[in-house]
Amino acid sequence: MKLFIDNRTPFFNPYYFQTMCVLYFPGEKFPPKDDASTNAAYFLLEKVGSDNTSFYKAKVRLESGGRFGEAEFTTDGYVPVIEADDEFFAALAVGKAFLKAGKQLFGFSLPWGYLTGLRPVKRAKYYLEKGYGADAVRRLFTDDYSVSPQKAELSVNTALREIDMLTGIDSNACGLYISIPFCPTRCEYCSFVSYANKKLFSLIPEYIVKLKSDIIKTAALIKELGFKLTAIYIGGGTPSMLENSRLSDLLGCVYSSFDFSDLREYSFEAGRPDTVTAEKLNLIKSYGVTRISINPQSTSERVLKRIGRMHTVGQFFEAAEIAKKAGFACVNADLIAGLPGDSEEGFAKSLDDVMALDFENITVHTLSIKNAAELRFDPETLYDPAGETAKKCVAYAYDKLTAGGYYPYYLYRQKNTVGNAENTGYAKAGYENLYNVLMMEECSTVFACGAGAITKIVSPDKERIERIAFPKYPFEYLYPSEKQTLSGIGEDTIRRFFQEEGLKSL
Ligand code: SF4
Repeated sequence: MKLFIDNRTPFFNPYYFQTMCVLYFPGEKFPPKDDASTNAAYFLLEKVGSDNTSFYKAKVRLESGGRFGEAEFTTDGYVPVIEADDEFFAALAVGKAFLKAGKQLFGFSLPWGYLTGLRPVKRAKYYLEKGYGADAVRRLFTDDYSVSPQKAELSVNTALREIDMLTGIDSNACGLYISIPFCPTRCEYCSFVSYANKKLFSLIPEYIVKLKSDIIKTAALIKELGFKLTAIYIGGGTPSMLENSRLSDLLGCVYSSFDFSDLREYSFEAGRPDTVTAEKLNLIKSYGVTRISINPQSTSERVLKRIGRMHTVGQFFEAAEIAKKAGFACVNADLIAGLPGDSEEGFAKSLDDVMALDFENITVHTLSIKNAAELRFDPETLYDPAGETAKKCVAYAYDKLTAGGYYPYYLYRQKNTVGNAENTGYAKAGYENLYNVLMMEECSTVFACGAGAITKIVSPDKERIERIAFPKYPFEYLYPSEKQTLSGIGEDTIRRFFQEEGLKSL
Protein backbone atom coordinates (compact mmCIF):
# COMPACT_ATOMS: atom_id res chain seq x y z
CA MET A 1 0.00 0.00 0.00
CA LYS A 2 1.06 3.59 -0.42
CA LEU A 3 2.24 5.27 2.71
CA PHE A 4 2.72 9.03 3.20
CA ILE A 5 4.21 10.17 6.47
CA ASP A 6 4.71 13.71 7.70
CA ASN A 7 6.25 12.96 11.06
CA ARG A 8 7.40 16.06 12.90
CA THR A 9 8.45 14.26 16.09
CA PRO A 10 11.79 12.60 16.75
CA PHE A 11 10.19 9.41 18.12
CA PHE A 12 8.82 7.25 15.41
CA ASN A 13 10.51 5.65 12.51
CA PRO A 14 8.40 4.70 9.47
CA TYR A 15 8.22 1.14 10.72
CA TYR A 16 5.85 2.20 13.52
CA PHE A 17 3.35 3.59 11.00
CA GLN A 18 3.68 0.48 8.86
CA THR A 19 2.96 -1.91 11.73
CA MET A 20 -0.10 0.16 12.59
CA CYS A 21 -1.31 0.04 8.97
CA VAL A 22 -1.25 -3.77 8.81
CA LEU A 23 -3.81 -3.89 11.62
CA TYR A 24 -6.43 -2.74 9.09
CA PHE A 25 -4.52 -3.71 5.93
CA PRO A 26 -3.04 -7.14 6.70
CA GLY A 27 -0.37 -8.57 4.46
CA GLU A 28 0.37 -5.18 2.83
CA LYS A 29 3.87 -4.44 1.61
CA PHE A 30 5.73 -1.11 1.89
CA PRO A 31 6.40 0.08 -0.76
CA PRO A 32 3.43 -1.55 -2.52
CA LYS A 33 4.00 -4.66 -4.61
CA ASP A 34 1.12 -3.67 -6.83
CA ASP A 35 1.31 -0.11 -8.17
CA ALA A 36 -2.40 -0.15 -8.98
CA SER A 37 -3.34 -0.75 -5.33
CA THR A 38 -6.01 1.63 -4.07
CA ASN A 39 -4.89 1.18 -0.47
CA ALA A 40 -3.17 4.21 0.98
CA ALA A 41 -2.47 5.82 4.36
CA TYR A 42 -1.53 9.42 5.15
CA PHE A 43 -0.14 10.36 8.56
CA LEU A 44 0.63 13.76 10.03
CA LEU A 45 2.03 13.86 13.55
CA GLU A 46 3.21 17.05 15.23
CA LYS A 47 3.81 18.73 18.55
CA VAL A 48 1.86 21.97 18.93
CA GLY A 49 2.73 24.85 21.27
CA SER A 50 5.64 25.54 23.55
CA ASP A 51 6.90 23.45 26.45
CA ASN A 52 4.36 23.91 29.26
CA THR A 53 1.28 24.08 27.12
CA SER A 54 2.29 21.76 24.30
CA PHE A 55 0.28 18.81 23.05
CA TYR A 56 0.35 16.33 20.17
CA LYS A 57 -1.85 16.46 17.15
CA ALA A 58 -2.32 13.70 14.57
CA LYS A 59 -4.26 13.51 11.32
CA VAL A 60 -4.82 10.20 9.55
CA ARG A 61 -6.49 9.41 6.24
CA LEU A 62 -6.95 5.81 5.10
CA GLU A 63 -8.09 4.88 1.59
CA SER A 64 -9.26 1.65 0.04
CA GLY A 65 -11.25 0.83 -3.08
CA GLY A 66 -12.19 4.47 -3.74
CA ARG A 67 -13.47 5.03 -0.22
CA PHE A 68 -11.75 6.76 2.67
CA GLY A 69 -11.84 7.39 6.40
CA GLU A 70 -10.32 10.50 7.90
CA ALA A 71 -9.81 11.58 11.49
CA GLU A 72 -7.87 13.89 13.75
CA PHE A 73 -6.95 13.60 17.42
CA THR A 74 -5.20 16.01 19.78
CA THR A 75 -3.97 15.33 23.29
CA ASP A 76 -4.83 18.89 24.32
CA GLY A 77 -6.35 18.53 27.81
CA TYR A 78 -6.16 14.70 27.67
CA VAL A 79 -5.54 13.16 31.09
CA PRO A 80 -4.00 9.68 30.77
CA VAL A 81 -4.61 6.95 33.34
CA ILE A 82 -0.91 6.70 34.21
CA GLU A 83 1.92 9.17 34.32
CA ALA A 84 2.91 9.61 30.67
CA ASP A 85 5.84 10.96 28.68
CA ASP A 86 6.00 12.65 25.28
CA GLU A 87 6.34 9.38 23.40
CA PHE A 88 3.19 8.02 25.03
CA PHE A 89 1.17 11.14 24.11
CA ALA A 90 2.43 11.13 20.53
CA ALA A 91 1.54 7.42 20.10
CA LEU A 92 -1.84 8.07 21.67
CA ALA A 93 -2.63 10.91 19.26
CA VAL A 94 -1.68 8.97 16.15
CA GLY A 95 -3.19 5.71 17.45
CA LYS A 96 -6.59 7.22 18.27
CA ALA A 97 -6.77 9.12 14.98
CA PHE A 98 -5.84 5.93 13.11
CA LEU A 99 -8.55 3.88 14.86
CA LYS A 100 -11.23 6.51 14.15
CA ALA A 101 -10.27 6.67 10.47
CA GLY A 102 -10.21 2.86 10.22
CA LYS A 103 -13.60 2.46 11.88
CA GLN A 104 -15.04 5.06 9.49
CA LEU A 105 -13.62 3.29 6.45
CA PHE A 106 -14.14 -0.37 7.38
CA GLY A 107 -16.98 -0.20 9.91
CA PHE A 108 -15.40 -2.30 12.65
CA SER A 109 -13.10 -1.67 15.62
CA LEU A 110 -9.90 -3.46 16.50
CA PRO A 111 -10.06 -5.53 19.72
CA TRP A 112 -6.48 -4.60 20.68
CA GLY A 113 -6.88 -0.92 19.78
CA TYR A 114 -3.67 0.53 18.40
CA LEU A 115 -1.45 -1.72 20.52
CA THR A 116 1.11 -3.08 18.13
CA GLY A 117 4.68 -4.17 18.62
CA LEU A 118 4.02 -4.25 22.37
CA ARG A 119 3.37 -7.42 24.30
CA PRO A 120 0.14 -6.70 26.16
CA VAL A 121 0.91 -8.91 29.15
CA LYS A 122 4.44 -7.58 29.50
CA ARG A 123 2.95 -4.09 29.47
CA ALA A 124 0.31 -4.95 32.08
CA LYS A 125 2.92 -6.70 34.24
CA TYR A 126 5.21 -3.67 34.05
CA TYR A 127 2.55 -1.35 35.48
CA LEU A 128 1.28 -3.85 38.06
CA GLU A 129 4.84 -4.31 39.32
CA LYS A 130 5.26 -0.54 39.44
CA GLY A 131 2.42 -0.48 41.96
CA TYR A 132 -0.59 0.44 39.80
CA GLY A 133 -3.73 -1.47 40.80
CA ALA A 134 -5.42 -3.98 38.46
CA ASP A 135 -8.25 -1.54 37.89
CA ALA A 136 -5.93 1.29 36.82
CA VAL A 137 -4.09 -1.01 34.39
CA ARG A 138 -7.39 -2.21 32.96
CA ARG A 139 -8.38 1.45 32.40
CA LEU A 140 -4.99 2.21 30.87
CA PHE A 141 -5.76 -0.49 28.29
CA THR A 142 -9.35 0.54 27.58
CA ASP A 143 -9.07 4.33 27.82
CA ASP A 144 -5.57 5.10 26.60
CA TYR A 145 -4.82 2.18 24.28
CA SER A 146 -8.48 1.78 23.12
CA VAL A 147 -8.37 -1.96 23.85
CA SER A 148 -11.74 -3.71 24.29
CA PRO A 149 -12.80 -4.35 27.92
CA GLN A 150 -12.51 -8.12 27.49
CA LYS A 151 -8.96 -7.93 26.12
CA ALA A 152 -8.02 -5.53 28.92
CA GLU A 153 -9.33 -8.02 31.47
CA LEU A 154 -7.54 -10.87 29.70
CA SER A 155 -4.23 -8.96 29.74
CA VAL A 156 -4.45 -7.98 33.40
CA ASN A 157 -5.59 -11.42 34.58
CA THR A 158 -2.83 -13.11 32.57
CA ALA A 159 -0.25 -10.70 33.97
CA LEU A 160 -1.42 -11.34 37.55
CA ARG A 161 -1.13 -15.09 36.94
CA GLU A 162 2.36 -14.68 35.53
CA ILE A 163 3.47 -12.59 38.49
CA ASP A 164 2.30 -15.42 40.77
CA MET A 165 4.02 -18.04 38.64
CA LEU A 166 7.31 -16.19 38.56
CA THR A 167 7.40 -15.43 42.28
CA GLY A 168 10.06 -17.59 43.84
CA ILE A 169 11.73 -18.47 40.55
CA ASP A 170 15.46 -18.30 41.16
CA SER A 171 17.36 -15.50 39.43
CA ASN A 172 19.67 -18.13 37.94
CA ALA A 173 16.82 -20.32 36.65
CA CYS A 174 16.96 -21.15 32.96
CA GLY A 175 14.97 -23.02 30.34
CA LEU A 176 15.99 -25.37 27.55
CA TYR A 177 14.34 -25.80 24.14
CA ILE A 178 15.13 -28.75 21.87
CA SER A 179 13.93 -28.55 18.28
CA ILE A 180 12.79 -31.51 16.18
CA PRO A 181 11.74 -29.84 12.92
CA PHE A 182 10.26 -32.87 11.19
CA CYS A 183 6.57 -33.72 10.69
CA PRO A 184 4.84 -36.74 9.18
CA THR A 185 3.06 -34.47 6.63
CA ARG A 186 2.62 -30.72 6.24
CA CYS A 187 -0.58 -29.01 7.45
CA GLU A 188 -1.71 -26.30 5.02
CA TYR A 189 -1.88 -23.47 7.56
CA CYS A 190 1.59 -24.18 8.95
CA SER A 191 4.39 -21.65 8.66
CA PHE A 192 6.94 -23.38 10.88
CA VAL A 193 10.15 -24.62 9.41
CA SER A 194 9.64 -28.36 9.42
CA TYR A 195 10.65 -31.04 6.96
CA ALA A 196 7.67 -33.17 6.00
CA ASN A 197 9.13 -34.92 3.01
CA LYS A 198 10.08 -38.60 3.07
CA LYS A 199 13.34 -37.96 1.22
CA LEU A 200 14.42 -35.44 3.85
CA PHE A 201 13.63 -37.86 6.67
CA SER A 202 16.89 -39.56 5.73
CA LEU A 203 18.60 -36.64 7.54
CA ILE A 204 17.03 -37.60 10.86
CA PRO A 205 19.79 -40.00 12.06
CA GLU A 206 22.52 -37.39 11.42
CA TYR A 207 20.32 -34.68 12.89
CA ILE A 208 19.95 -36.56 16.17
CA VAL A 209 23.71 -37.17 16.38
CA LYS A 210 24.43 -33.43 15.99
CA LEU A 211 21.60 -32.49 18.32
CA LYS A 212 22.93 -34.78 21.04
CA SER A 213 26.35 -33.24 20.71
CA ASP A 214 24.83 -29.73 21.12
CA ILE A 215 22.76 -30.91 24.09
CA ILE A 216 25.89 -32.19 25.83
CA LYS A 217 27.74 -28.89 25.16
CA THR A 218 24.75 -26.90 26.44
CA ALA A 219 24.58 -28.97 29.62
CA ALA A 220 28.28 -28.27 30.27
CA LEU A 221 27.77 -24.54 29.67
CA ILE A 222 24.74 -24.37 31.97
CA LYS A 223 26.82 -26.00 34.69
CA GLU A 224 29.82 -23.75 34.09
CA LEU A 225 27.68 -20.57 34.27
CA GLY A 226 25.90 -21.71 37.43
CA PHE A 227 22.37 -21.85 35.97
CA LYS A 228 19.63 -24.06 37.37
CA LEU A 229 17.67 -25.87 34.70
CA THR A 230 14.02 -25.24 35.55
CA ALA A 231 12.00 -26.09 32.42
CA ILE A 232 12.63 -28.23 29.35
CA TYR A 233 10.54 -28.09 26.18
CA ILE A 234 10.97 -30.50 23.29
CA GLY A 235 9.04 -29.07 20.35
CA GLY A 236 9.05 -28.83 16.61
CA GLY A 237 7.75 -29.99 14.26
CA THR A 238 6.47 -33.18 15.74
CA PRO A 239 9.04 -34.78 18.06
CA SER A 240 6.76 -37.79 18.55
CA MET A 241 7.25 -38.79 14.93
CA LEU A 242 10.71 -40.12 15.85
CA GLU A 243 10.98 -43.89 16.06
CA ASN A 244 11.04 -45.24 19.60
CA SER A 245 14.71 -46.28 19.50
CA ARG A 246 15.76 -42.82 18.30
CA LEU A 247 13.56 -41.12 20.84
CA SER A 248 15.07 -43.24 23.56
CA ASP A 249 18.55 -42.26 22.37
CA LEU A 250 17.65 -38.54 22.45
CA LEU A 251 15.76 -38.54 25.75
CA GLY A 252 18.47 -40.68 27.33
CA CYS A 253 21.03 -38.08 26.30
CA VAL A 254 18.96 -35.28 27.90
CA TYR A 255 18.49 -37.35 31.04
CA SER A 256 22.16 -38.17 31.51
CA SER A 257 23.47 -34.70 30.57
CA PHE A 258 21.50 -32.40 32.89
CA ASP A 259 20.96 -32.07 36.59
CA PHE A 260 17.18 -32.53 37.03
CA SER A 261 17.11 -31.58 40.71
CA ASP A 262 15.70 -28.08 40.08
CA LEU A 263 13.54 -29.08 37.12
CA ARG A 264 9.91 -28.01 37.60
CA GLU A 265 8.51 -29.26 34.32
CA TYR A 266 9.51 -31.20 31.24
CA SER A 267 7.26 -30.76 28.19
CA PHE A 268 7.13 -32.82 25.05
CA GLU A 269 5.07 -32.10 21.94
CA ALA A 270 3.27 -35.15 20.66
CA GLY A 271 1.28 -32.69 18.59
CA ARG A 272 0.04 -35.01 15.89
CA PRO A 273 -2.35 -37.62 17.30
CA ASP A 274 -1.43 -39.94 14.42
CA THR A 275 2.07 -40.38 15.90
CA VAL A 276 0.90 -41.42 19.36
CA THR A 277 1.07 -45.00 20.66
CA ALA A 278 0.92 -46.26 24.25
CA GLU A 279 4.46 -47.65 23.93
CA LYS A 280 5.80 -44.29 22.77
CA LEU A 281 4.13 -42.26 25.50
CA ASN A 282 5.24 -44.70 28.20
CA LEU A 283 8.78 -44.43 26.89
CA ILE A 284 8.61 -40.62 26.90
CA LYS A 285 7.27 -40.62 30.44
CA SER A 286 9.98 -43.01 31.64
CA TYR A 287 12.58 -40.29 30.90
CA GLY A 288 10.95 -37.82 33.27
CA VAL A 289 8.62 -35.91 30.91
CA THR A 290 5.79 -34.36 32.93
CA ARG A 291 3.72 -32.54 30.30
CA ILE A 292 2.59 -33.69 26.91
CA SER A 293 0.72 -31.91 24.11
CA ILE A 294 -1.77 -33.69 21.89
CA ASN A 295 -3.22 -31.22 19.43
CA PRO A 296 -6.49 -31.73 17.59
CA GLN A 297 -6.77 -28.05 16.40
CA SER A 298 -10.44 -28.90 15.70
CA THR A 299 -12.70 -31.86 16.41
CA SER A 300 -14.50 -31.48 13.09
CA GLU A 301 -13.50 -34.11 10.54
CA ARG A 302 -14.47 -31.71 7.75
CA VAL A 303 -12.28 -28.87 9.07
CA LEU A 304 -9.30 -31.18 9.59
CA LYS A 305 -9.57 -32.25 5.95
CA ARG A 306 -9.93 -28.63 4.83
CA ILE A 307 -6.68 -27.60 6.55
CA GLY A 308 -4.78 -30.65 5.35
CA ARG A 309 -4.19 -32.08 8.79
CA MET A 310 -3.78 -35.76 8.09
CA HIS A 311 -5.31 -37.33 11.13
CA THR A 312 -8.86 -38.09 12.15
CA VAL A 313 -10.91 -36.89 15.08
CA GLY A 314 -11.05 -40.52 16.27
CA GLN A 315 -7.23 -40.64 16.39
CA PHE A 316 -7.24 -37.56 18.61
CA PHE A 317 -9.63 -39.14 21.12
CA GLU A 318 -7.60 -42.36 21.12
CA ALA A 319 -4.36 -40.43 21.70
CA ALA A 320 -6.04 -38.46 24.49
CA GLU A 321 -7.03 -41.67 26.23
CA ILE A 322 -3.52 -43.11 25.88
CA ALA A 323 -2.03 -39.89 27.32
CA LYS A 324 -4.40 -39.98 30.29
CA LYS A 325 -3.58 -43.64 30.96
CA ALA A 326 0.16 -42.99 30.72
CA GLY A 327 -0.25 -40.76 33.78
CA PHE A 328 1.45 -37.50 32.76
CA ALA A 329 1.06 -34.76 35.37
CA CYS A 330 -0.28 -32.42 32.70
CA VAL A 331 -1.85 -32.98 29.29
CA ASN A 332 -2.29 -30.06 26.92
CA ALA A 333 -4.34 -29.64 23.76
CA ASP A 334 -4.13 -26.85 21.18
CA LEU A 335 -7.12 -25.53 19.26
CA ILE A 336 -7.23 -22.92 16.50
CA ALA A 337 -9.98 -20.31 16.11
CA GLY A 338 -10.73 -18.94 12.64
CA LEU A 339 -9.86 -22.05 10.63
CA PRO A 340 -11.26 -22.08 7.09
CA GLY A 341 -14.54 -23.93 6.93
CA ASP A 342 -15.05 -23.70 10.69
CA SER A 343 -17.92 -21.83 12.38
CA GLU A 344 -18.62 -20.43 15.80
CA GLU A 345 -20.66 -23.54 16.65
CA GLY A 346 -17.96 -25.80 15.24
CA PHE A 347 -15.27 -24.15 17.36
CA ALA A 348 -17.50 -24.25 20.45
CA LYS A 349 -17.98 -27.99 19.94
CA SER A 350 -14.21 -28.52 19.59
CA LEU A 351 -13.59 -26.64 22.83
CA ASP A 352 -16.37 -28.48 24.65
CA ASP A 353 -14.99 -31.82 23.40
CA VAL A 354 -11.51 -31.00 24.72
CA MET A 355 -12.84 -29.69 28.04
CA ALA A 356 -14.86 -32.87 28.47
CA LEU A 357 -11.52 -34.75 28.45
CA ASP A 358 -10.54 -32.77 31.53
CA PHE A 359 -7.09 -31.84 30.19
CA GLU A 360 -5.12 -29.67 32.58
CA ASN A 361 -3.97 -27.20 29.96
CA ILE A 362 -5.66 -25.87 26.81
CA THR A 363 -4.15 -23.39 24.36
CA VAL A 364 -6.41 -21.41 22.05
CA HIS A 365 -4.59 -20.04 19.00
CA THR A 366 -6.05 -17.86 16.26
CA LEU A 367 -5.26 -18.59 12.63
CA SER A 368 -2.40 -16.49 11.38
CA ILE A 369 -1.42 -16.79 7.74
CA LYS A 370 2.25 -16.31 7.02
CA ASN A 371 4.20 -16.55 3.81
CA ALA A 372 5.36 -20.11 4.38
CA ALA A 373 1.82 -21.48 4.70
CA GLU A 374 0.15 -23.11 1.73
CA LEU A 375 -3.22 -21.58 2.64
CA ARG A 376 -1.95 -18.17 1.63
CA PHE A 377 -2.49 -19.18 -1.99
CA ASP A 378 -6.18 -19.69 -1.38
CA PRO A 379 -8.14 -16.42 -1.78
CA GLU A 380 -11.05 -17.85 0.17
CA THR A 381 -8.96 -18.18 3.30
CA LEU A 382 -6.86 -15.07 2.98
CA TYR A 383 -6.57 -13.12 6.14
CA ASP A 384 -9.71 -11.32 7.25
CA PRO A 385 -9.06 -8.41 9.64
CA ALA A 386 -12.72 -8.18 10.67
CA GLY A 387 -12.69 -11.91 11.47
CA GLU A 388 -16.02 -11.80 13.27
CA THR A 389 -16.18 -15.59 13.67
CA ALA A 390 -12.65 -15.85 15.05
CA LYS A 391 -13.32 -12.98 17.45
CA LYS A 392 -16.47 -14.66 18.74
CA CYS A 393 -14.61 -17.98 19.09
CA VAL A 394 -11.84 -16.55 21.26
CA ALA A 395 -14.40 -14.62 23.33
CA TYR A 396 -16.37 -17.86 23.79
CA ALA A 397 -13.17 -19.66 24.80
CA TYR A 398 -12.32 -17.02 27.41
CA ASP A 399 -15.80 -17.15 28.99
CA LYS A 400 -16.13 -20.91 28.87
CA LEU A 401 -12.62 -21.73 30.09
CA THR A 402 -12.55 -19.19 32.91
CA ALA A 403 -15.99 -20.37 34.07
CA GLY A 404 -14.69 -23.95 33.89
CA GLY A 405 -11.78 -23.38 36.29
CA TYR A 406 -9.03 -22.55 33.78
CA TYR A 407 -6.94 -19.37 34.06
CA PRO A 408 -5.22 -17.53 31.22
CA TYR A 409 -1.49 -17.61 32.01
CA TYR A 410 0.27 -16.61 28.82
CA LEU A 411 -0.67 -14.70 25.73
CA TYR A 412 0.92 -13.48 22.55
CA ARG A 413 -0.14 -11.78 19.38
CA GLN A 414 1.13 -12.17 15.86
CA LYS A 415 0.89 -10.11 12.72
CA ASN A 416 -1.73 -11.06 10.10
CA THR A 417 -3.97 -12.89 12.54
CA VAL A 418 -7.62 -13.33 11.65
CA GLY A 419 -9.70 -10.74 13.51
CA ASN A 420 -6.51 -9.28 15.04
CA ALA A 421 -7.14 -11.82 17.78
CA GLU A 422 -4.57 -13.45 20.06
CA ASN A 423 -3.17 -16.78 21.23
CA THR A 424 -3.83 -17.64 24.86
CA GLY A 425 -2.66 -20.46 27.09
CA TYR A 426 -5.18 -21.52 29.75
CA ALA A 427 -4.54 -23.92 32.60
CA LYS A 428 -6.05 -25.23 35.77
CA ALA A 429 -4.25 -23.75 38.78
CA GLY A 430 -0.81 -25.28 39.14
CA TYR A 431 -0.70 -26.68 35.57
CA GLU A 432 0.59 -23.61 33.75
CA ASN A 433 3.53 -24.07 31.41
CA LEU A 434 6.47 -22.23 32.92
CA TYR A 435 8.63 -22.60 29.80
CA ASN A 436 6.13 -20.64 27.70
CA VAL A 437 6.14 -17.81 30.22
CA LEU A 438 9.93 -17.68 30.57
CA MET A 439 10.22 -17.55 26.81
CA MET A 440 7.44 -15.08 26.12
CA GLU A 441 8.18 -12.64 28.92
CA GLU A 442 11.95 -12.77 28.39
CA CYS A 443 12.56 -12.92 32.10
CA SER A 444 15.07 -15.82 32.15
CA THR A 445 17.72 -17.18 29.85
CA VAL A 446 16.48 -19.96 27.59
CA PHE A 447 19.09 -22.14 25.91
CA ALA A 448 18.16 -23.80 22.66
CA CYS A 449 19.46 -26.68 20.56
CA GLY A 450 18.58 -27.68 17.00
CA ALA A 451 17.60 -26.21 13.65
CA GLY A 452 15.52 -23.05 13.82
CA ALA A 453 15.99 -22.81 17.58
CA ILE A 454 16.96 -19.50 19.19
CA THR A 455 18.88 -19.15 22.43
CA LYS A 456 17.79 -16.05 24.34
CA ILE A 457 20.22 -14.80 26.94
CA VAL A 458 18.84 -12.35 29.49
CA SER A 459 20.94 -10.19 31.82
CA PRO A 460 20.31 -10.45 35.58
CA ASP A 461 18.59 -7.02 35.57
CA LYS A 462 16.48 -8.14 32.53
CA GLU A 463 17.53 -4.99 30.68
CA ARG A 464 19.68 -6.69 28.09
CA ILE A 465 18.65 -9.55 25.82
CA GLU A 466 20.65 -11.23 23.09
CA ARG A 467 19.47 -13.87 20.66
CA ILE A 468 21.61 -16.55 19.09
CA ALA A 469 19.85 -18.28 16.22
CA PHE A 470 20.73 -21.69 14.88
CA PRO A 471 20.45 -22.18 11.11
CA LYS A 472 16.79 -22.41 10.16
CA TYR A 473 16.64 -25.67 8.23
CA PRO A 474 17.88 -29.10 9.32
CA PHE A 475 20.12 -29.31 6.25
CA GLU A 476 21.83 -25.97 7.06
CA TYR A 477 22.11 -27.00 10.70
CA LEU A 478 24.01 -30.09 9.62
CA TYR A 479 26.00 -28.42 6.85
CA PRO A 480 26.27 -24.70 7.64
CA SER A 481 27.42 -22.48 4.81
CA GLU A 482 30.32 -20.07 5.21
CA LYS A 483 27.87 -17.23 5.78
CA GLN A 484 26.44 -18.95 8.83
CA THR A 485 28.96 -17.85 11.39
CA LEU A 486 27.45 -19.45 14.51
CA SER A 487 30.19 -21.51 16.06
CA GLY A 488 29.10 -24.48 18.17
CA ILE A 489 26.14 -23.53 20.31
CA GLY A 490 27.26 -19.89 20.47
CA GLU A 491 29.15 -20.55 23.70
CA ASP A 492 31.73 -17.79 23.10
CA THR A 493 28.99 -15.16 22.73
CA ILE A 494 27.13 -16.51 25.76
CA ARG A 495 30.26 -16.54 27.95
CA ARG A 496 31.20 -13.02 26.84
CA PHE A 497 27.68 -11.76 27.59
CA PHE A 498 27.70 -13.05 31.16
CA GLN A 499 31.30 -11.94 31.77
CA GLU A 500 30.29 -8.39 30.80
CA GLU A 501 27.21 -8.60 33.02
CA GLY A 502 29.35 -9.89 35.91
CA LEU A 503 31.79 -7.01 35.49
CA LYS A 504 28.90 -4.54 35.48
CA SER A 505 27.75 -5.71 38.89
CA LEU A 506 31.21 -5.40 40.50
S1 SF4 B 1 2.09 -30.84 12.77
FE1 SF4 B 1 2.40 -28.76 13.48
S2 SF4 B 1 4.50 -28.21 12.90
FE2 SF4 B 1 3.90 -30.04 11.73
S3 SF4 B 1 3.12 -29.27 9.78
FE3 SF4 B 1 1.34 -29.52 11.13
S4 SF4 B 1 1.13 -27.51 12.16
FE4 SF4 B 1 3.17 -27.56 11.22
